[in-house]
Amino acid sequence: MSTFKEMGLKSEILSAITDLGYEKPTPIQQLALPKVLESKQDLIAFAQTGTGKTAAFSLPILNQIDSQKEGIKCIILSPTRELGLQIAEDIKSYSKNLTGFKVVAVYGGADIMTQIKKLERGCDIVVGTPGRTLDLIKRNRLNLEGVQYLVLDEADEMLSMGFAEDLDAILANTPQEKQTLLFSATMPPDMVKLSKKYMTDPIEISAGSKQEANTNVTHQYYKINSRDRYPSLKRAVDIAPDIYGIIFCRTRAETKEVAERLAEDGYNTDALHGDLSQAQRDYVMNRFRNRQLQLLVATDVAARGLDVNELTHVINFKLPDEDAVYVHRSGRTGRAANMGISLSLLTAKEESRLRYLEKKIGRKFEKVSIPNGQEICEKQLFSLIDNIKETEIANSHIDSFLPQIFDMFKDMTKEEVLKKIVSTEFNRFLDYYRDAPDLNKTSDKRERERKNDRNNSNDDDRGERRGRREKREHKTAANMTRYFINQGKKDGFSPKLLMGMINSHMGGLSPEIGQIEIMKMFSFFEMETGHTSDLQRAAKQMEFNGREVAIEESSPRPEGNGEQKDNRNRGRGRGSESRGDRGRGRRKESSAGSHGSKRRRRY
Ligand code: AMP
Repeated sequence: MSTFKEMGLKSEILSAITDLGYEKPTPIQQLALPKVLESKQDLIAFAQTGTGKTAAFSLPILNQIDSQKEGIKCIILSPTRELGLQIAEDIKSYSKNLTGFKVVAVYGGADIMTQIKKLERGCDIVVGTPGRTLDLIKRNRLNLEGVQYLVLDEADEMLSMGFAEDLDAILANTPQEKQTLLFSATMPPDMVKLSKKYMTDPIEISAGSKQEANTNVTHQYYKINSRDRYPSLKRAVDIAPDIYGIIFCRTRAETKEVAERLAEDGYNTDALHGDLSQAQRDYVMNRFRNRQLQLLVATDVAARGLDVNELTHVINFKLPDEDAVYVHRSGRTGRAANMGISLSLLTAKEESRLRYLEKKIGRKFEKVSIPNGQEICEKQLFSLIDNIKETEIANSHIDSFLPQIFDMFKDMTKEEVLKKIVSTEFNRFLDYYRDAPDLNKTSDKRERERKNDRNNSNDDDRGERRGRREKREHKTAANMTRYFINQGKKDGFSPKLLMGMINSHMGGLSPEIGQIEIMKMFSFFEMETGHTSDLQRAAKQMEFNGREVAIEESSPRPEGNGEQKDNRNRGRGRGSESRGDRGRGRRKESSAGSHGSKRRRRY
């Protein structure tokens, strides 16, 4: 393997990349640098972001450009402004020791006059997004007649974003005589057409095999029931306490919904989609880059400009339509020598796509069972203990409180204290996942098992049944929240109908249901605490006798036999206090456990 020096790079460039800590060329640099340094032949390189491709095309170009000459010598086209800015920044650091060398980035969403002024001052390399580049050409503010190098970076992305016509128009404004370098992760049919039209006898190089996804990525999938998609996503996240990942959705609406549900459930997340302004997108991306957000829910288009090397996971909430997009998604993890997981949530129907995807990436998908509550609780417990062990002790602050703390714990053994500390954090997971269903079973099978359980219990002797009921009622009082529903006897409403509606709209969740009271105009029922948002979301999808269904938290069941009234509005604003001291206290308690940027889940 040659070193950068043996490849013949100028000392000014060598010193700059040494300052950046580049010791030896990456595989794509090893292949591309000699080709561009030694020949004028066009080049197609298969490489993804994260492989060192920016240096692979810019170092040999920088080495050959004469900045004493007038005019733009190289135009680099990139699909997004973020990637364009990144390339321009990289080139600035590679060229910092070359005298008089200048690079300018042009992109949409920013003041065009400022960019025109920069171009007027003269530069050697322009990095641009296709739309803004074409706009500047049409205004006669960008002259590409003298370019010796044309780089199409992430060419497949530019085509899939609909820039084919813009590229045609830009390329028509460049001279015939030039070297064209095309970098792409995949080779969709449109790109074959483009390369045939604009490239002459190109050499093809690839750091791996053509279109092969990064080998640091493990491709996994959960086989899910369609209605379990969201709970399966939660399990994927909960089983990986240190997850730092992107959840890909197919549409803006889906992106918003998933992000909202996750945020309501207490995950540290935000959404990135096309309905946001550029400033809002920048804000979300920055928070994600700085790890203030642990999970980003995004559409493919909106996530394009985001370049983060340390993602542990990419989760495909739903697969994209095009196989090439899957390659891009999964290539966002497993970068810069890190290992990563690309996890897809697939129904039986979607599973049939795998054969094609496997061909595309040249790798096998691994079927992984959806973790159960026990596995998740175990994982969270040990992660919590690890975190406690790693927490730095702020000695000076804590010391003064120690005598009092020791005194407060003096009647407990070390074991008891440890159990209590761990439980304060951990009980929420235990509560949430207690009796959680096995999502690997089909919903039919789960339903059959539930029915069997009920039938078996009919065979039990009465005494035992009474005993169990008493036990359940005891639990009911402690862990149940009571709800009001706007359907009553007059509407033909019944406990059976209520159970059916809840079962079929709760996305595979099976919270325990307590006492049901069907009144004339409305009803009350109890449900295991912690499902208010799931329930209200489910209610939005329910209709009964052509009427919308409304469910609200209610006050606890009154003691005694007094006639039941709709007491939601008594002495307070509608539906406010009804959310219950119990509910509110619980939420407070659970979010109080936040550590730094990682917010605790609320259950
Ligand atoms: P890229 O694929 O161009 O986005 O590069 C990914 C990351 O690898 C960037 O942070 C580069 O600075 C870094 N990089 C590029 N070439 C090398 C190299 N030869 N040695 C170490 N790091 C590199």
